[in-house]
Amino acid sequence: MENVIFLQPHFTHNVWGGTRLRKDFGYNVPGSDIGECWGIAAHPNGESTVVGGEFDGMRLSELYETHRELFGNCRSRQFPLLVKIIDANDDLSIQVHPSDLYAIEHENGSCGKTECWYIIDCPDNASLVVGHNASSRDEMKKMIEQGRWDEFLRKLPIKKGDFIQINPGTVHAITAGCLILETQQNSDITYRVYDYERLTDGKPRPLHIRKSMEVITVPDYPVGVGIVHGKTPGKSERLRLIENNYYKVFRLNVEEELIFTPDPPFTNMSVIEGQGKINGTNVHKGAHFIVTAGCERVELTGNMLIIASVPVQ
Ligand code: ZN
Repeated sequence: MENVIFLQPHFTHNVWGGTRLRKDFGYNVPGSDIGECWGIAAHPNGESTVVGGEFDGMRLSELYETHRELFGNCRSRQFPLLVKIIDANDDLSIQVHPSDLYAIEHENGSCGKTECWYIIDCPDNASLVVGHNASSRDEMKKMIEQGRWDEFLRKLPIKKGDFIQINPGTVHAITAGCLILETQQNSDITYRVYDYERLTDGKPRPLHIRKSMEVITVPDYPVGVGIVHGKTPGKSERLRLIENNYYKVFRLNVEEELIFTPDPPFTNMSVIEGQGKINGTNVHKGAHFIVTAGCERVELTGNMLIIASVPVQ
């Protein structure tokens, strides 16, 4: 059984995208509107493919379908998670995702979207939109309909290395200059609440006000819930950032050597800084791979920062 499966990402071009995925991460993608690198993805809207080894060239969804043993016989019908790097050269729209319950009923049985962000880089004094200030559904409705965005939206000051959990029903937006690794449920359902009155090719992008108002959590979670502020990592440290019903996410700081027994059923890994080796194979910034169920010991060497996720079922 192969212990580590290396993946070639899928890329998206977006109006708010930029060039950092090519310039900072070295991905060979043309254009100045590269928005997202779907590093570990098995979604109909974008898939990563296996690079090297006996499954070379296979789409991740196909590998998951035909070789479930590599994934610890994971029970999820589709590959459970999606890991992407987002380069926001401009502000992304204000949006919200549905829960599983809502999506199953309103989106043809799709799953909802719980997601979380690791801030790879951001400008000084950056802040993100996370949550809102309305105290009742009625107040939320008025604030949205009257466009009182400054009053409605909650701003969260962030720094490089911060981690933020975004539950379904949480209004959120990534702001210009942020480079973020997102770990999420394998879903692509987004309701756009507000797009700063921007035009794309002369037209506003569609909004989804009714669905947004149905799924937004009111009142919101208290400020600060689900946030882990980045502190300087300890030498060769495996830090758990979160565990919920969908995923466990870890930050692995490798200085010389980090050895551990991986959690079942399998682990997604993305190198976001530096370079080194996993079980003897060279990896560097921008590499995405899956440590399969057959791997009993992960040996990371070198100097690198990795975001890892394990699906919870
Ligand atoms: Zn989102």
